[in-house]
Amino acid sequence: MGRLIMKIATRLIFALLLCAGAFESLNFAQSKPAADLLITSANVWTVDPSHPKAEAVAVLGDRIVAVGSNAEVDSWRGPRTHVIDAGGKLLLPGFNDAHVHFVSGGLQLDSIQLNDATSKEEFAHRIAERAKNAPNGEWILGGDWDETKWTPPIYPTKELIDPLTRNTPVFVSRYDGHMVLANSVALHLAGITAQTPDPPGGVIVRDAQGNPTGALKDAAMDLAARVIPALSDDQRLRAVRRAMQYAASVGVTSVQNMNPDYADIAVYSRLLERGDLKVRIYAAPLITDVDDQVKIGIRHAFGESFLRIGAVKAYADGSLGSRTAYFYEPFLDQPNTRGLLSDEMHPISLMRNRMMKADAAGLQICTHAIGDEGISTILDLYSEIAKAHGAGDRRFRIEHAQHMAAKDFDRFAQLHVIASVQPYHAIDDGRFAEARIGHDRASRTYAFRTFLNHGVRLAFGTDWDVAPLDPLLTIYAAVTRATLDGKNPNGWFPEQKLSVAEAVEAYTMGSAYAEFQENEKGSITPGKLADMVLLSQDIFTIPSQQIRDTKVLTTILGGRVIWEAHQ
Ligand SMILES: [Zn+2]
Repeated sequence: MGRLIMKIATRLIFALLLCAGAFESLNFAQSKPAADLLITSANVWTVDPSHPKAEAVAVLGDRIVAVGSNAEVDSWRGPRTHVIDAGGKLLLPGFNDAHVHFVSGGLQLDSIQLNDATSKEEFAHRIAERAKNAPNGEWILGGDWDETKWTPPIYPTKELIDPLTRNTPVFVSRYDGHMVLANSVALHLAGITAQTPDPPGGVIVRDAQGNPTGALKDAAMDLAARVIPALSDDQRLRAVRRAMQYAASVGVTSVQNMNPDYADIAVYSRLLERGDLKVRIYAAPLITDVDDQVKIGIRHAFGESFLRIGAVKAYADGSLGSRTAYFYEPFLDQPNTRGLLSDEMHPISLMRNRMMKADAAGLQICTHAIGDEGISTILDLYSEIAKAHGAGDRRFRIEHAQHMAAKDFDRFAQLHVIASVQPYHAIDDGRFAEARIGHDRASRTYAFRTFLNHGVRLAFGTDWDVAPLDPLLTIYAAVTRATLDGKNPNGWFPEQKLSVAEAVEAYTMGSAYAEFQENEKGSITPGKLADMVLLSQDIFTIPSQQIRDTKVLTTILGGRVIWEAHQ
């Protein structure tokens, strides 16, 4: 009732003003609605070249409506406007991680941690502890072990854990996701024996007698993975909630989810319906299922601001860490191999057909390619597609784009391929890459500066849960290239370092462009979604070594505060 009276009163006043001819004198500032949120006294880095710095931002609903000085933006203040006094802290657009495995990330937050085990004994001990407490028959998964942190750095075998895990299947992944260690229980359940042949694109590692050691590489992992019981919807929902909460705490407001299960997308969709999605998601299911999206008629970036589909994720090869990235020349430290093309590339015509289909339907193609020949082969396919289907804004992507052949930078640019890269991998792999591929190839590894020099667009991400989700660590990595072992304090191939401004742009506008959303987000610009983060330090002015110690104080998503650090 009160509301109705208000409405009538407002109309009357408005009519009176019109009658009195007073409309012209009505101050525009009084007629516009008040902002829901004002952020004042901030050090705003907008990533908008037309207006790079500002002091204050006004938000109405889920959109930014004004960016300027405190005085300019103050006209948006109303009696119910929530005001955040930023106290001079740095305000950036929310980080957009262009390559995550979101549900795996959520599951990892809760699973066995093996990555920081510094010896094989510690590795085995942690698995034994977990097995003691695991319900009978429940699989031990995850882990992210890294044998390069052990002395000597050799791959673990099942003998190490078999006596400790007699009733528990173990299937623990190497941190790069391209290799697992399975124990005898798991191998038995999967039916893997000395007689099992290596699948195309995979290796069952064997001892001198030909018996499986428990280590399974790439496509061979599937032989055991397929007998692992599927996640329940409830487990998945819990994982997504954990992942969202964590993303908010590190300032990630958008993620591009590579190879999600359809069941993951179903969970996102349920959360969206309830208004419970706390991160914007662009999901790229595997290209092996391309027919599904083609059938529905989905095109790239189909959906709404919180949930989009319309991309496919393909695999060209493996990883450097597992020596399965596909190179023109053999690995220096294992000259009998130059890596593997993935099973999706056997034969290459299989991949060509799927990509042609995806492109004809207007789907975006994102292809994992790491070794120089793997990348080159995908560029060949991309150029065939562009030729066959004509010019268009298709925004091909190569995920990782790690080890480039010198001849391919120009081609990368000409085809307008986006380099979707994960700088944290550079300071991680930088510890051992030269031993594997030598100085010359290493000089074109994580070659972010060379990409920019050639006019290639970068999108930044982490590959979480392969690497940490924290964007400040990624920016630190891109800016310092200081390897994790402390051996390159001035940067590993320092000529490839980026400036903080370039790194922030790749993480915001670059990633937004990579998902066709550069008009919706990626900068603090009036009209765009109000996704922003307030940081504890000014990463543009502090010594670059301190960037990784920077914390996110506040995360704002669509105008709502979804994270605040306890200070
Ligand atoms: Zn990945």
